[in-house]
Amino acid sequence: MAPTPQTPRTIRRLPPTLVNRIAAGEVIERPAAAIKELVENSIDAGATRVDIVLRDGGRTYISVTDDGCGMSAEELLLAVERHATSKLEGEDLLRIATLGFRGEALPSIGAVSRMTLTSRARGADAAWSLAVEGGVVGPPAPAALATGTRIEVRDLFYATPARLKFLKSERTETAAAIDTVERLAMAYPGISFTLSDDRRTPIRLSAAQGDLLDARLARLGAVLGRDFADNSVPIDAAREGVRLTGHAALPTLNKPTTQGQYLFVNGRPVRDKLLLGALRGAYADFLARDRHPMAVLFIDLPFEQVDVNVHPTKAEVRFRDSQMVRGLIVTAIRHALAQAGHRASSTVAAATIESFRPQAAPPAVPAARYPTGLGWGRAPVPATPPARLMEEAASWFAPLTVPSARPGDAGEDAAAAPEPAVRHPLGAARAQVHANYIVAQTEDGIVIVDQHAAHERLVYERMKQALIDGGVKRQGLLLPEVVELPEQAVDRLLAREAELAELGLVLEGFGPGAVVVREVPALLGQTDVQGLVRDLADELAELDQATSLRERLDAVCSSMACHGSVRSGRRLTVEEMNALLRQMEATPHSGQCNHGRPTYVELKLADIERLFGRR
Ligand code: ADP
Ligand code: MG
Repeated sequence: MAPTPQTPRTIRRLPPTLVNRIAAGEVIERPAAAIKELVENSIDAGATRVDIVLRDGGRTYISVTDDGCGMSAEELLLAVERHATSKLEGEDLLRIATLGFRGEALPSIGAVSRMTLTSRARGADAAWSLAVEGGVVGPPAPAALATGTRIEVRDLFYATPARLKFLKSERTETAAAIDTVERLAMAYPGISFTLSDDRRTPIRLSAAQGDLLDARLARLGAVLGRDFADNSVPIDAAREGVRLTGHAALPTLNKPTTQGQYLFVNGRPVRDKLLLGALRGAYADFLARDRHPMAVLFIDLPFEQVDVNVHPTKAEVRFRDSQMVRGLIVTAIRHALAQAGHRASSTVAAATIESFRPQAAPPAVPAARYPTGLGWGRAPVPATPPARLMEEAASWFAPLTVPSARPGDAGEDAAAAPEPAVRHPLGAARAQVHANYIVAQTEDGIVIVDQHAAHERLVYERMKQALIDGGVKRQGLLLPEVVELPEQAVDRLLAREAELAELGLVLEGFGPGAVVVREVPALLGQTDVQGLVRDLADELAELDQATSLRERLDAVCSSMACHGSVRSGRRLTVEEMNALLRQMEATPHSGQCNHGRPTYVELKLADIERLFGRR
């Protein structure tokens, strides 16, 4: 309503308690935010242990107790004053080494709750406490506390009922508190943390020992689970004074959301779009679009290269050279994953074992599918006898064949007693089942390879390398092959003629409704040219004109691999199988296909023995 002369307008100064409540809303929007500020203060105070207690998800009660440096009575009084801090030296907001720096948290929490601070300064012979209710500070009083500081917050937001209405269920608020503390705990493995409510203690983390990297891995394992610790690769890289450390999961350990991604900048947990984008870029080659890698990354850089003062809850940061940081992340992760070589995560084996657990009753097997005389659960016998398998044209496979690493490898006779091939990480091929799975024996277990997925990956990696090295080797067809196609499909292929030639596929127009193929990529081996060209034409229909084939190499390669010699459904000789295994070992990223699915699973003898109740 517009003011009228009858209702005189008055401008008044808001009382400081009210101003503080308004400001508090920016920093403390839920119990987890108060907990974050209090725990950060404990960390800044040099604590070695921090214990958190909640009631009703933090709404009625929060306490944070630490064994840090503590505060004297005078310091307590200053600590609850707005913009009073012990952490900002001089006036340089760009040199911030502590988690806190604004001197806002304690007054903000005190403005909207009933807060009690109890503290004993290190070396002092007595403790003091101070009560703040709705922003009104009481006098300091002597108290009992052996060491450190305890901050208790009762009835959060009682002074701002509007804020109270926005709180979620107790369960949700508790989960947010747990998440907050876990994030901080990941960055500070040397500090022990507990968090409990009336019923349980969801966080119980003892201080991790050892040097920083060992301690950190132990802490990450304790927070994120053994799977992560066992199935991640260490990251350690530096560029222009920026250091990147942490752990990134093998692509086969992925999630449907970005929840498993944790980022820290100078010890501060942040959520940053740039960093999340960099992670996506680093894994773009290995994961389907709807899967996300797990990773915990720590970026440490000179304070003047990053601004942490851009967000009220300090959850976002601004880098001076964000492209450089992005590049560092992408390169470092790709490099670390390449070092992991053919490793697929052990979670895959765990899932396999789970699916092997004996069922209550034998599964019903349609009689017709199994040769008579075989009980349930036994693998069907290949229709072709092994000798016949051996005879199959080994030459088909020639382009992908690499000679065994060591002379004397008895790859020729896989049925013989333990031979050196067993010592290879992926072992010695023993059999092929269902025309797509290679079963190999390793020194301490067995490996099952999905030959189709593995081959697809190998083709992809070789294509990529060949493109980097200056061109994909081609193999001329003795008889050029004519492929008949709808006119639009022909147009699409011819529009990409030069790009396809670069990838090893040489074709030309052949009248309005056909192309003639003269050369194919040598690494495909014996190729089903018709199928390959038709598939590619379909694939091109889905790509827009502006996207280069190099950018969608994964799609092109999967079309190609599907029609190469090791496609699923093709029987392989033992030599071919062994060659494929050796090839996988020598090829980076071969533990997963282009969509993040594993290309093989490994079962250790110990796992197998457990399956049979021998352990
Ligand atoms: P900031 O952390 O930004 O300095 P806070 O309002 O969170 O602002 O805290 C104000 C000051 O109170 C801190 O600078 C610190 O000196 C002191 N303080 C807060 N919590 C603790 C604690 N747990 N132990 C020791 N000192 C503390
Ligand atoms: Mg603080």
